[in-house]
Amino acid sequence: MSAPRRITFPHMGDYWVPLKRIAQLSGADVVVPPRITRHTIDIGARYSPEFVCVPFKYTLGSFIESLEAGANVVCQVCGGCRFSYYAEVQEAILHDLGYEFEFLSFQGGGNILEVMLEFQRKAAPHTPVPKIAKAFFDAFRMAEAIDEVQGRIRRDLAFEVETGSLRRVETEFLRQLDATTTPRQVTELRQETMRRLDEVAVDRPERPLRVAVVGELYVVMEPYSNSRIENELARNGVEVHRPLDLTTLIRHSVGHRKHIREMIRGADPYVTRHIGAEGTESVARTLAAIRDGYDGVVHLKPFGCMPEVNAMAAMQRISREHTFPILFVSCDAQSAEAGLRTRVEAFADMLRIREAGVIDA
Ligand code: SF4
Repeated sequence: MSAPRRITFPHMGDYWVPLKRIAQLSGADVVVPPRITRHTIDIGARYSPEFVCVPFKYTLGSFIESLEAGANVVCQVCGGCRFSYYAEVQEAILHDLGYEFEFLSFQGGGNILEVMLEFQRKAAPHTPVPKIAKAFFDAFRMAEAIDEVQGRIRRDLAFEVETGSLRRVETEFLRQLDATTTPRQVTELRQETMRRLDEVAVDRPERPLRVAVVGELYVVMEPYSNSRIENELARNGVEVHRPLDLTTLIRHSVGHRKHIREMIRGADPYVTRHIGAEGTESVARTLAAIRDGYDGVVHLKPFGCMPEVNAMAAMQRISREHTFPILFVSCDAQSAEAGLRTRVEAFADMLRIREAGVIDA
């Protein structure tokens, strides 16, 4: 008798909640991947080619942890850059390590609707398309709720009167979100959570420092991989905004070409052709941050990421020509939190001095 199917996917931020909802459609048991820790990246890096980009290492480590926890079906979504080839390489590495499992990769061409149909074909062939579409829609609603709640927390974290009060609301929200069974419950929970966040006491200065975090999607959305830089910025009194989250990623995937054209227009004249993955977007979002009166930008670049290396060159020029502060952070398997803390402190101090009119960037 063959073993029951137990499906898993890579861990990224708190998006395991909607991803679990989709995985359940396959009819298999879901193995929720453990949170990313030092162990995840250590084992991911140990079995990855040395110069591969760091999201490859994190997701490989995440797969190994789930396989060790009993998963035997692994899902990976690919696309955008050389990540398109990563599924095959990761599958080969995991087989070489002796794991027995089925590997399902979804190319999707950057479009969520194509990923959905591919998911039906490969993971849930007996589930009718309308039921799959409904589950994807429900999962999208959950991602929207996470992004709205966490967007608010990001904005207010630096100014909460009682340390930990916002995170307590968030923890309870995530626990309840996982237990919801209908879109209506998700909407009600989202509204209730936003009300609770409104009630948390915050002491916001009249003109707080505002910073936008841009960069490659994995290191932007998985806090462990960026040494929880948003918390560090908040600890230094900075209001944080993040234009890239799962909701916007999914929305843009539906009109992918149009979105790329818009980003190229937004990045002009510093980038005139798409430079892959989120590279063009990092440049366009930096120019938008200048227009919108932000005090600075934090750019998160995974070690080994060509699109973001290209973006960085353009952003350095922008920083010079607009005298606009940008903190460039390279995230790799060895990133040290202590070093980053010092850099964030210095960056926030510099923004404060600049705001006071003492220096230019
Ligand atoms: S965008 Fe960069 S870091 Fe992300 S998968 Fe592609 S090459 Fe790797």
